[in-house]
Amino acid sequence: MWSSSVELTNLASVPGLGVFQNVFEQKKNESRSKRGQSTFRWRCSTQEAGNAGSGNEQQRLVVIGGGAAGVYGALRAKSLCPHLEVLVLEKGQLLSKVRISGGGRCNVTTGLFWDPKPLAGQYPRGHKELRGSYYLSHGPADTVAWFTERGVALKTESDGRMFPESNSSGTIVDCLLHEAKRMNGVDSRVQGVVSAESVLLATGSALQGYRIARDLGHSIIEPVPSLFTFKVADKALTELAGVSFQRVKVELELPDRQHHSEFIQDGPMLITHWGLSGPVVLRLSAWAARHLFASKYTCVVWVDFTPNIELEDLKALLLKHKEKSQKSNIGTYSPEELAMVRRFWVYLLERQGLDKDLKWARVSSKALHQLAILLKRCPFSVSGKGEFKEEFVTAGGVPLAEISLKTMESRFCPGLFFAGEILDVDGVTGGFNFQNAWTGGYIAGTTVAERCLLRGLTSA
Ligand SMILES: Cc1cc2nc3c(=O)[nH]c(=O)nc-3n(C[C@H](O)[C@H](O)[C@H](O)COP(=O)(O)OP(=O)(O)OC[C@H]3O[C@@H](n4cnc5c(N)ncnc54)[C@H](O)[C@@H]3O)c2cc1C
Repeated sequence: MWSSSVELTNLASVPGLGVFQNVFEQKKNESRSKRGQSTFRWRCSTQEAGNAGSGNEQQRLVVIGGGAAGVYGALRAKSLCPHLEVLVLEKGQLLSKVRISGGGRCNVTTGLFWDPKPLAGQYPRGHKELRGSYYLSHGPADTVAWFTERGVALKTESDGRMFPESNSSGTIVDCLLHEAKRMNGVDSRVQGVVSAESVLLATGSALQGYRIARDLGHSIIEPVPSLFTFKVADKALTELAGVSFQRVKVELELPDRQHHSEFIQDGPMLITHWGLSGPVVLRLSAWAARHLFASKYTCVVWVDFTPNIELEDLKALLLKHKEKSQKSNIGTYSPEELAMVRRFWVYLLERQGLDKDLKWARVSSKALHQLAILLKRCPFSVSGKGEFKEEFVTAGGVPLAEISLKTMESRFCPGLFFAGEILDVDGVTGGFNFQNAWTGGYIAGTTVAERCLLRGLTSA
């Protein structure tokens, strides 16, 4: 199922950490042990003196990718099995996405869903598979405990997102790097040919990681973007950038008319300089990521601006307001029950063809009826996806059916583990993507360390 030699290209230099060459060999039969395990050979060169060119590969874990999943996995393995040699190979900056995450604050995990089932429900890709033991092994509560025990105080915001109390992602990065230093053995310096019995592939959404996985026999579900904002070509709307709504209900209509229950979401929404954003839009983009990719990011979104008020009640409310405010201009303010920013109220009136200077007394019942319908079902034509990477993840990657979620090991390649975004798992916004990275890394690290310990026992 797997090839004997896999070529990697474009591995960049790692300032201060050494340079590793572009060869990743997987020796097949001759290095297989009796247990059917394989030995991975990672050929490296370095500018610095390294310490990993020799030694016992049976006690070595090579982690490819120093992001959240890779570093957390490395730390877990090292903490359980201190004599395990752990190498983290990172082509750029360690933990760079953690640093830029959550607008520089790092939404570490969620405080809302600690039970596996509702938690799994937050993953458009993974919601079925992650319902089982995955989050029981290491869920959000364990993540909170892990960071708290290491001196990082976390806080939960009203929407359930958890951040470091410092409001700085640097606190999370420093904690992880400090932990690696304290353990004195999670190394990034490599030289010569490195052999290892275990490799954790945690390259996020990097194409090179997908290629390694494919070369080792895995299939890759086509990667497409998830968690993006919607472009709406409506100048009058985008001039209202900054106007936000605490709760709207949004329904997505695709050109092919395909519909799923998750294509209706509610929550906060924001008007931006290019269209629509906010949690409700990001959630829709995640659930419909593949459909939107197929439709070239064109669709219609129908927004209900008064999800708590039924249509008939809304009509009655507008009529009552008319009676009460006969002599006022309709554009002066919206009925207070609608709690609508004046600028947006005027935008809606104009869309309905109502002059903002018209007196309430002169608005016909028919016009009020149509206004009520617009408030309940206001269409916006989406013409593309926002370019600004607010919180952007990739849907697709290695299919979950090709690994064991109990160990994170490949079903095709013994000794090869996966964690994080390289897998076909992605969550909605709210800390779920990091939680997947922590959990996957933790389980992989645990498996590798336990096997290493077991080997120690059996060889003693
Ligand atoms: C702007 C932004 C903000 C985000 N904010 C949040 C948030 O607040 N909360 C949340 O839950 N999620 C957030 N996410 C998503 C989250 O960052 C990712 O889901 C998470 O980082 C995935 O972790 P990972 O370790 O799998 O991959 P990554 O963090 O992408 O790490 C992979 C690492 O592998 C390295 N690499 C790739 N190929 C190679 C190679 N061949 N050799 C060596 N190294 C390699 C990369 O350089 C990278 O450092 C955000 C994403 C973005 C883009």
